[in-house]
Amino acid sequence: MPHSSGGGSHSGGSSGGSFGGGSSHGSGHSSSRSHVYNTYHPGTHRYVYYSHGKPKYYYSNSKVDSPVAAIIFLGIMALIWLIATMPAIKTMCHIPHKLSLDYDTQIIIEDNIDVLSEREEIRLMSVFEDFQEKTGITPALITVDNTEWKDYYYNPSQYAYDLYVNRFEDERHWLFMYSTNMENPADVILTPYDEMSSHQDFDDWYWEGMQGNDTDRILDAQFTSQFNDVVQKQLMARTKYSISDAFINGLLTISPKIMKFSIPSGALLFILIFIGIPVGYFGGLAISLIGDVKKSKALRCPTDEEKPQEDSCEYCEGIYVHGIHESCPHCGAPIKKWTELNACPYCKKIGDKITVKSRYRNGTPSRRMYWIECGYCGTAQRHDDNSGFKTRERAIQAWNNAAVLKEG
Ligand SMILES: [Zn+2]
Ligand SMILES: [Zn+2]
Repeated sequence: MPHSSGGGSHSGGSSGGSFGGGSSHGSGHSSSRSHVYNTYHPGTHRYVYYSHGKPKYYYSNSKVDSPVAAIIFLGIMALIWLIATMPAIKTMCHIPHKLSLDYDTQIIIEDNIDVLSEREEIRLMSVFEDFQEKTGITPALITVDNTEWKDYYYNPSQYAYDLYVNRFEDERHWLFMYSTNMENPADVILTPYDEMSSHQDFDDWYWEGMQGNDTDRILDAQFTSQFNDVVQKQLMARTKYSISDAFINGLLTISPKIMKFSIPSGALLFILIFIGIPVGYFGGLAISLIGDVKKSKALRCPTDEEKPQEDSCEYCEGIYVHGIHESCPHCGAPIKKWTELNACPYCKKIGDKITVKSRYRNGTPSRRMYWIECGYCGTAQRHDDNSGFKTRERAIQAWNNAAVLKEG
């Protein structure tokens, strides 16, 4: 069924057609994870993963969970959201397709009250033809006297509706009804003085656009309201514009852009709020989880608080942590046999029985002391004051230095 594209009258402004939107509802996603620190916290373990050939450490009481499932979930949520909101977006965007002209496309200009000159009718016809050629929509103009409908209809819109359905069997016309008072100028009394404007013979006029349903994708709210504004303004300024001028200029105003794709500013705002923000949210969450993919592949280090022994691969020069890899984590090459401690400077033996020992001085964990003991000969390498070294590295260094000195 056709519906109003808007209209107006001498005593009122223009009115727009109707426009509907859609709404959707969705849910969020949250996850809880164990604390991950960048520095050592008591009770946490040290984990190592590799990035750009270097070890990266984090501290947590358990390895970071793989975020792959969460990322897939977020991706599916974003996709469902896009699919759910796409029909509303498509409706809001202007995506015009020319209507096929396989219907009765004869253009009707029916001036029942002689308000159009012959020249005006010829010009109207040519503009209507151009519009039809471009859009596939057939414009029509019918002028009537107010007495034709005023006693039988509540408003010009109802009358224009009947005009449309009586004249056209299709839904591809755009009918303009113009009605004025040619026989009974008594209506002038009902009009406020200040609206009688400058021209001497006041006429009580109405106009209405009636568009078939098939024209909706082309004649959407943004274009009908542009058209209505031009027509109403020019009909109000009758000293400058004729009735035909108003409809011609209305069509010429919307013609250049009407068959082009466009996104109205209202739709842009809708897209930003209903697409940009949720997709940005899901996307941001997904991106924040990508870093966890590497973390979830981390290995627990042999030490928690102290930095573990690192070495570089002989083949790729990538740096790795000792004691947790069978082969280079960067290139897969076999790792050279590594011994943290040199041979015992006293018995010259090398092996598992040479160990790093530690104890708390005065029972205070923060004052841990280290030394090396050889299980083969019983030698203990300690600091000069016999209390041990403050770090494991220093103890190992001292042991190895002593071993090298003894070798020499
Ligand atoms: Zn390597
Ligand atoms: Zn020894």
